[in-house]
Amino acid sequence: MTAELIGLNAVVTGGASGIGQATARLLHERGARVAVLDLDPSGVELPLMPIRTDVRDDGAVRDAVESAASALGGIDILVNNAGIGAAGSVEDNPDEKWHEVLDVNVLGVVRVTRAALPHLRRSAHAAIVNTCSIAATAGLPQRALYSASKGAVHSLTLAMAADHVRDGIRVNCVNPGTVDTPWVGRLLDAADDPVAERAALNARQPHGRLVTAEEVAAAIAYLAGPAAGSVTGTALAVDGGMAGLRLRPVTA
Ligand code: NAD
Repeated sequence: MTAELIGLNAVVTGGASGIGQATARLLHERGARVAVLDLDPSGVELPLMPIRTDVRDDGAVRDAVESAASALGGIDILVNNAGIGAAGSVEDNPDEKWHEVLDVNVLGVVRVTRAALPHLRRSAHAAIVNTCSIAATAGLPQRALYSASKGAVHSLTLAMAADHVRDGIRVNCVNPGTVDTPWVGRLLDAADDPVAERAALNARQPHGRLVTAEEVAAAIAYLAGPAAGSVTGTALAVDGGMAGLRLRPVTA
């Protein structure tokens, strides 16, 4: 185990489940003090600090970030990870659903970052990592709204990296493929044939399986840590090769 994050304070949104939970645990293992901001932080175990907040509510976000900063003694690392999904083509969701998903996935990043920036500017080691998605860089069927939200997160990551590099704040994102989290479990449960659906998702990724939450957490921890001190404005794919590889079909 490396202890490269000793002395650093981290805030992880959506840290009560899946990728965020694995990330909060790993940052803690590497020495950081960690606050978890989540709609439902009831399962967050000490010494991780649970803070209930909804990233759709600007006032609640400001209060939560201030609570985290004063309890931790500052903020050095922000992981903007809270997000929700949506299925369908551009025809399938009403405006209300578009507003809801963009409110969480895009404006959630904006609100938490805006509240955390004064603290990050005071840090000698400031890093923001956004959880983006393969959906930002590849055209996936039945994911129009979700992809639009993650495309925005990708562009926002680049813009934020440019705006804050001279403040000493690095900004990067991770682009996971399909990750075996409770979210994907819910999608599989809703499928007509969950076993066939899981097999199709496994086969879509060139390494032949789902990504684990721990693998995404490791990429986030790298981007958040001092080893990535010269890395900003990047998107790190954690997708078993899904974005970049073109394999020939397996023949019998
Ligand atoms: P998850 O559903 O297991 O966890 C998401 C967490 O976010 C939950 O704890 C939930 O309570 C919290 N959350 C949701 N809305 C919130 C809000 N308004 N305010 C505060 N917290 C809120 O999901 P996951 O699979 O771990 O996904 C985490 C992130 O990873 C998301 O941004 C998602 O888009 C992204 N992602 C997931 C996958 C995947 O295949 N699972 C792939 C690529 C990207």
